[in-house]
Amino acid sequence: MNINVISLFPEIIESSLKGLTGKAFTKNHAQLNLIKLKEFSTNTYGSVDDTPYGGGEGMLIGIEPLEKSLNSIEKKGHVVNLSPQGKLFNQNKAIEFASLKNITLICGRYEGIDQRFIDNYVDEELSIGDYILSGGEIAASVVIDSILRNIPGVIGNEDSVAKDSHSSGRLKGHSYTKPSDFNGLKVPEILLSGDHKKIEEWKIANSLWVTKQKRPDLFKQIQLSEKEVILLRDYENQLKQNEQ
Ligand code: SAM
Repeated sequence: MNINVISLFPEIIESSLKGLTGKAFTKNHAQLNLIKLKEFSTNTYGSVDDTPYGGGEGMLIGIEPLEKSLNSIEKKGHVVNLSPQGKLFNQNKAIEFASLKNITLICGRYEGIDQRFIDNYVDEELSIGDYILSGGEIAASVVIDSILRNIPGVIGNEDSVAKDSHSSGRLKGHSYTKPSDFNGLKVPEILLSGDHKKIEEWKIANSLWVTKQKRPDLFKQIQLSEKEVILLRDYENQLKQNEQ
């Protein structure tokens, strides 16, 4: 996969993509093409921003450098503008993007970018949350990291990606590691039993229960199978008994 990013500060993106997902680039699962917007300035000062028509606060990135930088990319693919006004980015989007051959992310700065560029060159606007960042670079890093995790081969254990929270519309649930007893704080007994079927059923029930507690909005959307309804009911009954 080829990921292009147009940005005033591409070094922010470069420095944030290290470690596990950074290996996606060294192992050629994906290529990162960082385009420095400043190099496409159309004036003698080397700037890419200007004051907004009609007045108002701050500066806007102009359409000309944006258009030039976009045209410099050989394989643009799907063009995404990162914006707090976009649809919320989520795991389904990350999975969808991971199957693309080419994608281009546009990072705004200041008060944002000229609307004509959005209207005429952008396929989709995405936000990483209902808050304002100073620039699109951190949002681009978030989007790229989550795309890379969904490219087959990037994460060694693909099962772990499939079972991650949000991959199937539910949260993963509780996880424990050694020691099994820390000053009387014990790991649920079933996980130490060695009974694989019972452990798997506990994990399903626990994942559903955690989703119901933490994200009732997600839980409402899950189509529970008959078996899952029973597993969750038994799990909740067990919790009630433990409380008595
Ligand atoms: N004035 C704009 C508004 O109110 O919609 C906000 C501009 S923001 C300070 C500058 C840039 O940061 C945006 O163009 C966008 O690229 C990026 N940005 C800020 N918040 C974001 C978010 N929640 N998700 C994605 N990108 C964001």
